[in-house]
Amino acid sequence: MIRTASVIGGGPAGLMAAETLAARGIAVTVHDQMPSVGRKLLMAGRGGLNLTHAEPLPVFLSRYGSARSWLEPVITAFPPRALIAWCNGLGQATFTGTSARVFPVAMKASPLLRAWLGRLAGLGVRFAPRHRWSGWDGSALVFATPQGAVRAEPDATILALGGASWPRLGSDAAWIGFLVRDVAPFRPANCGFLVSWSPHFRDRFAGRPLKRLALRFGPDQVRGEAMVTHAGIEGGAVYALSARLRDAIEAEGSAVLLVDLRPDLDRAALADRLGGPRRGQSLSNTLRKQAGLSPEAIGLVQESLHAGSDQSDLAALIKALPLRLLAPAPIERAISSAGGVRLDAMDENLMLRDRPGVFLAGEMLDWEAPTGGYLLQACFSTGVAAARGALRWGG
Ligand SMILES: Cc1cc2nc3c(=O)[nH]c(=O)nc-3n(C[C@H](O)[C@H](O)[C@H](O)COP(=O)(O)OP(=O)(O)OC[C@H]3O[C@@H](n4cnc5c(N)ncnc54)[C@H](O)[C@@H]3O)c2cc1C
Repeated sequence: MIRTASVIGGGPAGLMAAETLAARGIAVTVHDQMPSVGRKLLMAGRGGLNLTHAEPLPVFLSRYGSARSWLEPVITAFPPRALIAWCNGLGQATFTGTSARVFPVAMKASPLLRAWLGRLAGLGVRFAPRHRWSGWDGSALVFATPQGAVRAEPDATILALGGASWPRLGSDAAWIGFLVRDVAPFRPANCGFLVSWSPHFRDRFAGRPLKRLALRFGPDQVRGEAMVTHAGIEGGAVYALSARLRDAIEAEGSAVLLVDLRPDLDRAALADRLGGPRRGQSLSNTLRKQAGLSPEAIGLVQESLHAGSDQSDLAALIKALPLRLLAPAPIERAISSAGGVRLDAMDENLMLRDRPGVFLAGEMLDWEAPTGGYLLQACFSTGVAAARGALRWGG
């Protein structure tokens, strides 16, 4: 029977594990290296906090790709409807958006986190901020704190240390150096990409949106928006294709994304419009008036022409503008990371095979998923699973 537990990492996965254990009467301490918990959750709240997704469960599960086989029982045991009920139970109403994405009505994380921390305090959970876990000394956990080294010897430990994106929010993946050997290298996921813009294009358009476009890579096509950045391109539509683009760049050195700047018009209709009289108009006026392009889209067409694209079939260029992506943008700015502790390192309780009593949860595990609420759902569900695993193991 376990009586005490240390949860290391106060993100959604760790806090969910803490709640599950404390609700069963375990004395839980949440250690985090940051001065406060839930910093990445709060950051996710800036985009509205897409908690989960309302599509049918089999479709939902397919979003986890090769990790589906082991995540399926984990998510089925704490599925999207359980997460929504949990959120509602904390006084946070939710709604389902047009794309079936689920958000709290407040469209941010702070009220949810505040209510959650209140509940955890009520369950007797202790918080140990500014406790940087640095490994074990024998069976004792060792933390570096402003007051010096601190040790703890709980009956069970849950590690929920996060992935490797946005390290300044706490998840710096420094544990890779000492935890287990069975770790798939971290790579950016749901990330932007680097493009070699001309100085003129970069100066004029960095920070500007490319609205209502469609992006195509191989068999995948997605409609949405993107953002020109100083170093390349990012945004929802890019993130949706980012796993395949990243893998292609790793294999081939670069990848060509096809941008459709007028997805609502077919090529023939566009050619018709562009075939009309030009009456001495400049190219950019033609693109604006006849093709209805925004200044950013016109800039992209001109950038492509300067790089050698064929001007004789403008309609074809507008429908499939080739954009060469050179590398993923740095992981420091990615929404999430791929890679992490491999499934083989753990048993069916998410317990480390070579460290009995140590359970793992959240983005530090080797799975990836697109945006759409799949990231948080898997973090919450693995948090529940790791805690239940500890309870089962502890008898
Ligand atoms: C900008 C942005 C927007 C996002 N929006 C969404 C969204 O809308 N929907 C969605 O599903 N997902 C979103 N995500 C992803 C989601 O926030 C993460 O997947 C999730 O927070 C990961 O949870 P976690 O508990 O595994 O790790 P984290 O939330 O990263 O928490 C890990 C914790 O471990 C602590 N820690 C790490 N190492 C140590 C150590 N050695 N000692 C002590 N403590 C340590 C860290 O300080 C941190 O508090 C977004 C992410 C970003 C960056």
